[in-house]
Formats: sequence, structure tokens, C-alpha cells
Amino acid sequence: MAKLLVYDYVFGKGLKCGGHWKLLMRKNHGQLNSIVARMKVSRHLSSNRELLSSFQEAADDTGRQIPRYCRVNVLRSSMHDVMDYFKRHGHTYLGKARSVKDLERLKNNEFLTDLHLPDVLAFAHGTDFHDHELYRCGNIILQDKASCLPAFLLAPTPGAHVMDCCAAPGNKTSQLAAIMKNKGKIFAVDRDEARLATASTQLLRAGVTCHVLLHTDFLQLDPHDPRFRDVRFLLLDPSCSGSGMLNRHVGQVDEEKVSPDRLAALSGFQYLALRHALSFPRAQRVVYSTCSLHLQENEEVVQDVLKHFENSFRLVDPLPDWPHRGEGTFPGAALCLRASAHSDLTSGFFVAVFERVEQSPLK
Ligand code: SAM
Repeated sequence: MAKLLVYDYVFGKGLKCGGHWKLLMRKNHGQLNSIVARMKVSRHLSSNRELLSSFQEAADDTGRQIPRYCRVNVLRSSMHDVMDYFKRHGHTYLGKARSVKDLERLKNNEFLTDLHLPDVLAFAHGTDFHDHELYRCGNIILQDKASCLPAFLLAPTPGAHVMDCCAAPGNKTSQLAAIMKNKGKIFAVDRDEARLATASTQLLRAGVTCHVLLHTDFLQLDPHDPRFRDVRFLLLDPSCSGSGMLNRHVGQVDEEKVSPDRLAALSGFQYLALRHALSFPRAQRVVYSTCSLHLQENEEVVQDVLKHFENSFRLVDPLPDWPHRGEGTFPGAALCLRASAHSDLTSGFFVAVFERVEQSPLK
């Protein structure tokens, strides 16, 4: 009843009720108006009609059958062996997906290789592998497709030195190690001790051996420390609002729950962390990612930081086939990738890839 009244009051023909409900609505008049105004600001919308359309879009997301993605951990197994195991245990392999629609059509025990990420398998929506033997042994990692993009796009070479600046609980660290075939060195940094302990367990289970855990604040690391002399690849996946993560209960994103103050604090940290990552003297390629939908944590951070590095770093398009691009008026937005349940069948995500334009003077 309350929801219907709020709808009528905000978007419909106004209050048609009386008594207790009318009093209640009147009492909350100011708060309701300010919530609606905040929702429009956070979505960069100007009218109630646009806000209604954005609700419709979010509701469409719920209707989309987002597959269960899993990444094959090539440190413990191989694509061939994992696929063979699934086929022998009642699953039907349909080949490589050719479109997002193929992923959405998956039924029951069918599975596909993802169309963008060669180590990622997609199973029907609702498939649960949390108790699966392959998961328990670290042969598969339950990681959403979008969250596999940053390490894949950083593409460090085997033998390289890599900094995972905000690493816990270590999903991307283990993916980096797999890409590097466990050769080289990954500095896995996190300031949260408990989360770093979880990362340590996960990395052990995944068979990662090329990492060094650093329990510290990334902003306090000295880029000129001799230990980091050879760091050429950096992955920065900082704390963010998480507004792109699907709320499994209601099937929508939690965007409006982030207060303006929290958003400002997060984007302030993200800005400093990205500047810090680009300050490593031998950095060649740096990937910045969030699971946020907010421009303030994504395109705006990238734009503000680039102003300080325009002579040394540029944005590159890491996946020209990826259809979903950055938003807003920033000219580099077209080089940034976004992902969403609605258009890509993944959780909401943002990735930007920086490459050095000049040779480091130390080289
Ligand atoms: N990349 C991780 C993965 O794929 O498993 C997820 C990282 S999570 C989004 C962000 C992490 O940043 C958290 O574990 C948090 O403790 C860490 N963090 C936040 N501020 C930090 C800082 N100043 N220095 C280092 N780590 C930080």
C-alpha cells in the first residue's frame, strides 16, 4: 500500500487517500522529494519521466538470465580437462558463444566458452558450483565474467613484475598468476589484514606461487623502492561503492544506497590511488577497474588523473569488439569499457587501460 501511494504521489496524479495514510505521506513529504532528487542526480537525469524509464531498464535486467560464469584455473588444470570433466558428468558443451544471446539461451546442463574470454566457461543461470569438486580443488574459480576483464586486459607477460594494488581476496591475483604461468612476481597489496589472509588461502588453493603478500596501505608504498624497480604492470581495483553488483534479492543494482559523502570519499581515494599507480617509474601498462556504475568513480577519476599524466600515459582501447563504452562527456570515455547485466549479461563493471607513451628515463 505504501509503495503504491508513494508511486502515485511522486509519479502519478497525487494523493487520493485520506486519514492515516494521508498524514503519513504529508509527514514524509520533504524526505520523499529529496530522495527522488538524489536519485535523479546520481543517475544524471533531469525529469521524473527519465527516472521512471531507468527503473524500467533495471527491471529489464532482472528478466535477463545472467549465466553462471567460471574461470578455468590453468595453474591447476587445463581448459581441455575441465571441459572433458563436465562432459563426462552430464553437461553438454555447445562450443564457443558467438553472441550474448547464445549465453542467455543456455539451458539446464549446457555450457559454452565465453565469446570474449578464452578461459571462461558459461553455464545456465542458477547453476551452483559452490560445492562442486572442481571448485573445491581450485580447478575452477567462481568469478563473474566482467571481473575477469581487468587481469585479462592487463595481460602481463610470464616473468614480468606486477603490482596488484588492492588485491584481496585475490581473485584477480590468481588470474594474473595464471596468465603469467606462475613465472615472475606479483606484489599482492592490501591494507586489510583479514581480507589478505583470505587471499592467502585462496591463492594457495589456486596453486599460485609467484606472489608476495604485502599488508600495507598502497598509498604508502614508495614507487621508487628498489623492490619495485621492475614493476611494469599494475592492476588497480580499489574499494568502490559496489553499485554495479547485482542485488540478488531484488535483481537490481543498489545505486541509490550510496550517499553523496561516501561517493566523494571513495572517488577521492580512487583518484589518489590511480595517480600513485601511474607514478611507478617503470609502469608500462596500468589497468583501473571498479564494480561501480557511478561516473564519479569511473570516467571522472580517469579524466582527472589523466590531466596530470597527459605527457606520459594515454588511454588505449583494449578490446575493440566490446560494444559497451564509457559514459559522460569526457573524450576518452569511448576508450573505456563498461559492462552491465542489461547489455552484457554480467554484473556492472568499468575498466580503463593506460599505456605509457614515452620511454621511462630509467630504461
Ligand atoms: N582485486 C580484488 C579481487 O579481485 O579479489 C578485489 C579488491 S576489493 C574491490 C578492494 C580492496 O582494496 C579491499 O580488499 C580493500 O581492503 C583494499 N584497499 C582499500 N584501500 C586500500 C589501500 N589504501 N591500500 C591497499 N588496499 C586497500
